Amino acid sequence: MDRYTRLTELGWNMDLLRRGTVLVVGAGALGNEIIKNLALAGVGNVLVVDLDVIESHNLTRSVLFRASDVGRRKAEVAALAAADIEPRMNVRWFDAPFQTTLGLGALGNVDIVLGSLDNIQTRRDLNRACLLTNTPFIDGGLYFLDGDVRTFLPPFPVCFDCTLTQDERDTGWRRWSCLGILGDHGAGVGPTAPTVASMVGGLQAQLALKYLHKDFAGPYPMLVPNGVRIRFNGFADEYERWDLNRDSECPTHLSVTSVPLSPITSIPYGNDMPAAQLLEIAQAALGHEAYIELGFDVVHSLHCFQCDRIEAAARRRGALGIAETMCPECTPSVCFECGHSIAKTVATRPDLVFPEKVDCAACFESNPLVLRDSQTLNRIEPGSPALAYSLAELTVPMMDILEARDFEGQKTMYIQLDGDRDKVFGTC
Ligand SMILES: [Zn+2]
Ligand SMILES: [Zn+2]
Ligand SMILES: [Zn+2]
Repeated sequence: MDRYTRLTELGWNMDLLRRGTVLVVGAGALGNEIIKNLALAGVGNVLVVDLDVIESHNLTRSVLFRASDVGRRKAEVAALAAADIEPRMNVRWFDAPFQTTLGLGALGNVDIVLGSLDNIQTRRDLNRACLLTNTPFIDGGLYFLDGDVRTFLPPFPVCFDCTLTQDERDTGWRRWSCLGILGDHGAGVGPTAPTVASMVGGLQAQLALKYLHKDFAGPYPMLVPNGVRIRFNGFADEYERWDLNRDSECPTHLSVTSVPLSPITSIPYGNDMPAAQLLEIAQAALGHEAYIELGFDVVHSLHCFQCDRIEAAARRRGALGIAETMCPECTPSVCFECGHSIAKTVATRPDLVFPEKVDCAACFESNPLVLRDSQTLNRIEPGSPALAYSLAELTVPMMDILEARDFEGQKTMYIQLDGDRDKVFGTC
């Protein structure tokens, strides 16, 4: 008997599943359950993104992690464990923030995205990328004994951002920008039940398997409901399902409808190409004053008003921590009272926002901080400091689609970095 006999008896088509490509963002408790199910079902291509390291408390809720994995990267360990379940699976892992790793061209080439994240901002960024590329997004979430699955499929009558209040949108952004890190893992995350992770991750994987069959004439229709929330109430032991509503003020819907990404011009270069070379390509098509929109802010220099030194940098705004923003010349390196490292103190205080002083983590004495002013850019244009860097240094993700415009802003060209295709998808 063939390995997949029992699945084909269910009406599943193994060729479809083997050809399928699923992106899983988040390899925590929920991601583990999703990845395990995709491997068991024989899905051919799976991409796993997670920047976290395995800690011992993950071991009570993560089926793919073992005690000997503590300290290793979640994405890598989950991916290798999946390949151990189904060696024919082409599984790729990325141990970096989603936003600076997989670009729009990568999203546009996966069949479906499953979100298993613990923070709002990464979900919002993922949701936006899905809308821009017409890629279905099924989000999962856990809270205490409850679990939640939400479906957002093209043509996106409703999206993840529609389900948020303005306060939640603001909070998600504030955490992202002021903590100086991408993602707010750990912050505001309540306890979750590993048993509920199995239920929610199982449901997400099941919906993804159905979605891969959407054009398949099988023994029964495999339809995925669009724009619904399915909530497991862990106190009442009930599933509830209801339709989600479009928010007419949804910032993602309002901004995405105005920027259709077509037609796309593919170039055989990856994000390791120099920004100057990309500008030349845009100029050849759109004239000498063409420029490229990055779609995000990059800090290109740090200026200290006290000593007037300027340091060149290339960091995405929001990814720059207080420790890097401090002037190394003007801020004392150790506490004046006890000699404890100021950098170590600052690392324990991710809640600090533009502080002028900080209380020493060892002796609680107040120490002065001298923060530098960061100068940002959001375009690659003639004369720009961006021209000194590669696209990757400017935090442009692999296989991204960049928007080039002519000087008057009349003509637009969407350039996809196709040189990254093998790095993203491997042999699939
Ligand atoms: Zn929306
Ligand atoms: Zn200084
Ligand atoms: Zn001290």
